Amino acid sequence: MTLMRADKLLASAGVGTRTEVKKIIKAGRFKRDEVPVRNPEEKLDPETMKLSLDDTPFCFAANEYWILNKPAGVLSATEDRRHETVISYMGLQRKGLAPCGRLDIDTEGLLLVTDDGALVHRLLAPSKRVPKQYEVHYTGTLPPDAAAQIAAGMTLEDGTRFLPGQLDTSDNPALLTIFEGKFHEVKRMFAALGCPVEKLRRLSMGPLRLSDLGLKTGEFRKLSPAEESSLL
Ligand code: URA
Repeated sequence: MTLMRADKLLASAGVGTRTEVKKIIKAGRFKRDEVPVRNPEEKLDPETMKLSLDDTPFCFAANEYWILNKPAGVLSATEDRRHETVISYMGLQRKGLAPCGRLDIDTEGLLLVTDDGALVHRLLAPSKRVPKQYEVHYTGTLPPDAAAQIAAGMTLEDGTRFLPGQLDTSDNPALLTIFEGKFHEVKRMFAALGCPVEKLRRLSMGPLRLSDLGLKTGEFRKLSPAEESSLL
């Protein structure tokens, strides 16, 4: 039996945002065994209970959460005519599954693949400031104030502004933590510091860390229930 809060169940089925679905529930439009639920926190079991929304049977398929240690050469996309995508690489069939953000084709490392749009938004929206850590192999010598520049939030010559990040330069590869995901963000930051990136690997995203997941490059699996709830 999988018990889920009524509001979470409707929101994760894509019926609306948490605020919208709470209104739907309070208006009595969501029913369990013909009786309006009314309390958004009520725990429901979509597998065994007869649920309906606006008197239409409500079928709930739980979201899927996959994690891939992406190899280079695979595109972070759902479809592409020229390249293998993470979806074709993983052999996923279920409609709606998509990578949570993009890693460049030559970037390796942690990539979440899910059909949970609300979670994707929470992990990627710059306003949520979710940390993403990268291992950055670079050429050349970083300026002594590289970490300070990144901590202050860099502005590129073309006017692009990056949110403040954290750089640990005690070694090469350096470790860089950023809190948003602009196009080629890490490569553009390092290029602006005079040190082109040679190889890039994402080590973590929010609570998920590659070192805990036990996946070699190219390997993937579904998240465990505990890993899933660390994200939700
Ligand atoms: N920043 C980049 O430049 N590339 C990536 O793949 C991810 C972050």
